[in-house]
Amino acid sequence: WRMATAAMQTDEEFIATNQSAFMVGATGETGKHILEELTNRKLFQTITLIGRREVTYEGEKYQSIVQKVVDFDNLDSHADVFKNHDVGFICLGARAGNTGVTSNLPALRKVDHDYVIKSAELAKAGGCRHLVLLSAMKASKDASHPYSKIKGEVEEEAKAFGFDRLSIFQPAVIMVDRKDETRVGEWFLKKALAPVAFFFPTALTVPIATLARAMVNTALTPKDQDVEVLDNKAIHRMGGKK
Ligand code: NDP
Repeated sequence: WRMATAAMQTDEEFIATNQSAFMVGATGETGKHILEELTNRKLFQTITLIGRREVTYEGEKYQSIVQKVVDFDNLDSHADVFKNHDVGFICLGARAGNTGVTSNLPALRKVDHDYVIKSAELAKAGGCRHLVLLSAMKASKDASHPYSKIKGEVEEEAKAFGFDRLSIFQPAVIMVDRKDETRVGEWFLKKALAPVAFFFPTALTVPIATLARAMVNTALTPKDQDVEVLDNKAIHRMGGKK
């Protein structure tokens, strides 16, 4: 795969370009790991966290963070917070509950589609050049499964905004130990997949740290095409780079 072999900027080279980023979904599992990666490596001048609540971050490495609390049902009224970011990370997602993702489709769609697409639209209008979008394996607008279909529709609509660069991530099952695991089905799935993850690491799973590093590293890789889709194997490759 071409992107993974293209030369990546060093952190020092990237830092010298003085870029700023925004994140939507920074309080989620994936978002938290991306934020750690970004702040540990001090990659951006400022990181604007756009969320529905404020969080306390303690420590010198978090100095570059600016928090903006927004009402996601009225995102248009917060268009300003999406202005002037070079790179945007969107890793928003509704907690689907214990009985699976189809149990509350309207709620899922509102977050995973409506909020995501509105964020992307405002980001584009605000001058964002590179959008890094967390989607999912098997995302397709033609999928029969509603979750995959929503993710696929989001991808298509995000493409239509015409970002200078759009990086779409399609991870398989994200392996993470949630402190407050409420998704029983997901818990069992992860236990069942543990041996698969051991023997075939890139087949059906991705460690959350690998995914986060891949999403961050993509900002440091030269653009290859306007829209790039990273499947689970590509994520492992991109996330393996230091
Ligand atoms: P989390 O559930 O850990 O985090 C979700 C984020 O979205 C949080 O920042 C949360 O904010 C925010 N959010 C949720 N609901 C709302 C709402 N109603 N209004 C505003 N913000 C909201 O997500 P993950 O990191 O586990 O997953 C992120 C994405 O990755 C999801 O879209 C998921 O579909 C996708 N994905 C997940 C896989 C997996 O195996 N888990 C596999 C492939 C893709 P707050 O903290 O305030 O609640």
